Amino acid sequence: MRPRDLHRYLKDVGWRQSPVPPDAPSLDETPGIGDPPNTLEALARSADGCRLCRLSEKRRTVVFGEGHPRARVMFIGEGPGADEDRTGRPFVGQAGKLLDRMIFAMGFDRTEVYIANVVKCRPPGNRDPKDDEVAACAPYLDRQIELIEPEVLVALGKPASHRLTGTTKPMGAMRGRWSAYRGIPLMPIFHPAYLLRTPKAKREVWNDLKMVMARLQTTE
Ligand code: URA
Repeated sequence: MRPRDLHRYLKDVGWRQSPVPPDAPSLDETPGIGDPPNTLEALARSADGCRLCRLSEKRRTVVFGEGHPRARVMFIGEGPGADEDRTGRPFVGQAGKLLDRMIFAMGFDRTEVYIANVVKCRPPGNRDPKDDEVAACAPYLDRQIELIEPEVLVALGKPASHRLTGTTKPMGAMRGRWSAYRGIPLMPIFHPAYLLRTPKAKREVWNDLKMVMARLQTTE
């Protein structure tokens, strides 16, 4: 995508589709976002100094995401917790260890998939990100997905599933059912943190991940 196209894309698609917080600066005034990033590295650099929402006030580190830049499968969680804020890496706490095991059970390791979050800065006290924070971070996630071009997206938990499906259905109604985000097959599953509290839901998650694996096999 040429720079002008991305500029138009962020304006026409990313920003208009999501509710934009009333006090958000316009794209043209936003340092970093106005210069269209054509690589993940450039996009990460533009996110680094981001001040688009209140989460930037208390964050220690912007947790952009990590993994294979052309990953076949991309996992998207809700937002960094304390461990992630400290290390700058997504899913490195207890929930992350479980996610690692899920990824391994699917036949991958962390370097072969991509892991990101709906918001790149830690919501204080690990609360859910608010709608305007999700909207402010939308151009980063949208462009991240566009650059990686995964074959399948896996949304971890409610905030990611709502953001990517554009619905507000309960998790029980979304999980295990294929949806799509801009033409990319999307599987909502329970968040690993929920699985730590509710181990019996692991069976459902495993069934959902088997659907993801079956889908990936059809394009191998
Ligand atoms: N760590 C993350 O990076 N994201 C989550 O959603 C939870 C923990």
